[in-house]
Amino acid sequence: MAGQIRAPRGTRDRLRDEAPAWQRAEATASDLSARYAFDRIDTPFFERIELFSRGLGEASEAVEKQMFRVGGALGTDEERAEWALRPEPTAGIVRAYLEHGMHVQPGPLRLWLLGPMFRYDRPQAGRYRQFTQWDVEVIGDSGPMVDAELIELGHRFFAELGVLNVVAYLNSIGDANCRPAYRAALVDYFSARSDRLTDDSRRRLQDNPLRVLDDKDLDPDLAEAAPRSIDHLCDACRAHLNGVRSLLDALGVRYELDHRIVRGLDYYTRTTFEYFVAGRRGQQQALGGGGRYDGLVEQLGGPSTPGIGFGIGIDRTVLAADEQGVVTPPEAPLLVVVSVDPEAYEPRMRVAGELRQAGLRVRADGSSRKLGKQLDSAARLGARWAVIVGGELERGSVILRDLAAGEQREVALSEVPAAIG
Ligand code: AMP
Repeated sequence: MAGQIRAPRGTRDRLRDEAPAWQRAEATASDLSARYAFDRIDTPFFERIELFSRGLGEASEAVEKQMFRVGGALGTDEERAEWALRPEPTAGIVRAYLEHGMHVQPGPLRLWLLGPMFRYDRPQAGRYRQFTQWDVEVIGDSGPMVDAELIELGHRFFAELGVLNVVAYLNSIGDANCRPAYRAALVDYFSARSDRLTDDSRRRLQDNPLRVLDDKDLDPDLAEAAPRSIDHLCDACRAHLNGVRSLLDALGVRYELDHRIVRGLDYYTRTTFEYFVAGRRGQQQALGGGGRYDGLVEQLGGPSTPGIGFGIGIDRTVLAADEQGVVTPPEAPLLVVVSVDPEAYEPRMRVAGELRQAGLRVRADGSSRKLGKQLDSAARLGARWAVIVGGELERGSVILRDLAAGEQREVALSEVPAAIG
């Protein structure tokens, strides 16, 4: 077919086969958010570019390389250049927090969001230009209990979905007090070995030396021997990290310290973490990540306020579940309402309506074919049951046909749910 239009590169249509696993992941995220007493927030899919460059940092990968600029019908030339699809949710949530004066509400605020994020990156397995994140944020709580609570929440999500063997890799990257010395130590260390760095890392070394550590092509020996932030923490940051660790230990939450978890964005302070399936630490395999951002609210023009959050990728979570052979519970059995009289549309609709009201999953045949054809088509759709509407409807009954067994019997309409149970 010449000229056929395809989905944009790095995006996917999610079809019927994938839908149940996605729905389960999204429902679990939503349910856990409610159980952990988070309030839902939805922010626009696009925002001013300045929000991201100020919030995430000019030298972050998301701003430097992956901004998905949008324009077109948005107005004047000047206005067009100013928007980008959101690459991550936190900056937008903090913007909304300030815009709606949420900082005067009794806190800490607990917010959650589920939706698409956009990064203009080279697509590959597990890396898309549009992907979905479940995100939670706690604003106004300096921890360390909330840090441990969020790390535990992510674990519970994977556990409830049946994704096994997940580890939270944990680090602390310090704060405005102690980070400058750590940055300087990294710059010294990597500058002396710059011939072993990638071009990208050499370029980034002065602006954002922490990011050299999460360069996927960094020589592992060089990474191993690099200065570690936890050796440079000030007393307050060290006490915070110890507090988080002792809570995780006491609760039996699985984590490992890892000095390469620095996260790529400027707004992070202190606690940073990422989830992986143990032993699967490739570039496109992080299932989720998060951290504390005690400076972000102020950076975006608000009062100094601590914050922490995580984003878990639903795409990769569903992939991991699939790889581990997690079986999504089957959908409810399908019933198709057919009728003896090929033209009896109204009774089919009425019966279908009553069965749906009772909570069943129901299609009604909308054709004017003979009963035999309607039954064939129900079987082809994968229906387990056909509900045949005929003269019995006068006494409130239908014929319930088990399409697998080829058996049928008269059943009162109100008894259908029990009869198929
Ligand atoms: P990040 O803030 O970049 O660590 O993203 C948080 C989570 O979102 C990651 O751990 C992934 O699960 C998911 N994620 C990030 N970028 C992508 C992408 N391009 N495609 C699919 N999932 C992604």
